[in-house]
Amino acid sequence: MDRDDLKEHLKFARELGVSGVSTDPSWRQREDTATPNLPNPDPANVEPREPRTTISLTPVDALAAVRADIGDCTRCKLHTLGRKQIVFGVGNPQADLMFVGEAPGADEDEQGIPFIGRAGQLLTDIIEKGLKMSRADVYIANVIKCRPPQNRNPEPDEVETCEPFLFQQIDIIKPKVIVALGKFGAQTLLRTLEPISKIRGRVFEYRGSKLIPTFHPAYLLRNPSSKRDVWEDMKLVLTLLGK
Ligand code: URA
Repeated sequence: MDRDDLKEHLKFARELGVSGVSTDPSWRQREDTATPNLPNPDPANVEPREPRTTISLTPVDALAAVRADIGDCTRCKLHTLGRKQIVFGVGNPQADLMFVGEAPGADEDEQGIPFIGRAGQLLTDIIEKGLKMSRADVYIANVIKCRPPQNRNPEPDEVETCEPFLFQQIDIIKPKVIVALGKFGAQTLLRTLEPISKIRGRVFEYRGSKLIPTFHPAYLLRNPSSKRDVWEDMKLVLTLLGK
């Protein structure tokens, strides 16, 4: 590097905010000591981040990239326990409203689309008859993307492995409102053990969105009298959406 190059280099460094160069040898080891073991952040308090690079994908392409990253996933044991396919999510990649369920059931596993069985039909009614929207207007996904055997609850290691993909979906779609369907979805997303009956209908800040837990449509099939509560929650959703 000749003198002119060096001058240019220093000028550039000054523009970047570099104010000096340390001659202390311990400075070279700073990266070994300066990185504490930070705990995993609470996903509810994470603001969606702008991408680090200036290359920005459209939401369609970004979701396709997440789907490609999942691939024919073998990250957790569910791939050995009879799942037929990954159920990624469907709907508008720029939806203002997103529904998050628990995990695919048998029908969803068969067809690769979330919420298409009996509970899914009821969710479709809530969207179309209650909210006067279409399934194509909203985005629908689950906390985990593979069917647990006999529809058992997802286990902690399965959730831990799979939920980062849901977080990526949320951060790409950036919905105004997320409806967490049922005890499992709500408790998992909010990291709480409070019963769904206590948290439903309340508004939580979640990764830059408003999150409202409500009863799962499968629960409503068994307890139709709770449909009234879900309707109250959906009215709140409409208000938050400015409708
Ligand atoms: N129940 C869920 O939680 N998700 C589905 O996709 C179907 C049923």
